[in-house]
Amino acid sequence: MRLVLLGPPGSGKGTQSVRLAGTLAIAHISTGDILRAAVREGTELGRKAESFIRQGGLVPDEVIVGMVEERIARADCSRGFIFDGFPRTIPQAEMLESRLGAGPRAGNGGAIDRVLYMDLDEESCVRRLAGRWTCPADGRTYNQFSQPPKAAGKCDRCGGALVQREDDRVGTVKNRLKVYLEQTRPLIGFYEKAGRLNRVDASRTPDQVFAELLNAVRQGAKA
Ligand code: AMP
Repeated sequence: MRLVLLGPPGSGKGTQSVRLAGTLAIAHISTGDILRAAVREGTELGRKAESFIRQGGLVPDEVIVGMVEERIARADCSRGFIFDGFPRTIPQAEMLESRLGAGPRAGNGGAIDRVLYMDLDEESCVRRLAGRWTCPADGRTYNQFSQPPKAAGKCDRCGGALVQREDDRVGTVKNRLKVYLEQTRPLIGFYEKAGRLNRVDASRTPDQVFAELLNAVRQGAKA
């Protein structure tokens, strides 16, 4: 099964995609996590991506597509995967279709089975990002108001110290939202036309949103 979680920054894609990947036993692929790890490790990819991430802009499509192709070729993707933060532009979605949509699955729904669109208003996104804390070791996210860790400042899973992402600062968040509206939101129409989009109200509690996402995946699988 191949899924995409689409939505503005702060809509809960990270939290929900980790949970969906666990329940469906598919790989979780966050392009943001891969890029942040590359920046930390100082690799060539990290050096290419760093300034774009810091400013809240998008890393060029050709860099992203090469990175994703390499990631989905790994063994843990054989049962499928869920993309979190990819595709982010129409050209990325088109490249995904042209590389993965061909072959035995062509004409049978294309490269992606379901796109789950997490709908959340801009004000709520800004509020959520301001309270977000992330574990740099495993990428797990928490929210100091709605989803705090069990022990303050520590990751529930690995115990690592939580940090606030540099690009969650107010100035950068505004730019990320602008970039989302201009470059990523058009993907809603792209996947809607293909009959593969489900809209989910992301303003509800994490458990309610998860139940709705899972339901959409299961209904889509039957269709
Ligand atoms: P995220 O963790 O998904 O919010 O991504 C953090 C940052 O990484 C974004 O603001 C972009 O600079 C970069 N990034 C992540 N995924 C992509 C993508 N698919 N295309 C371009 N840039 C990306």
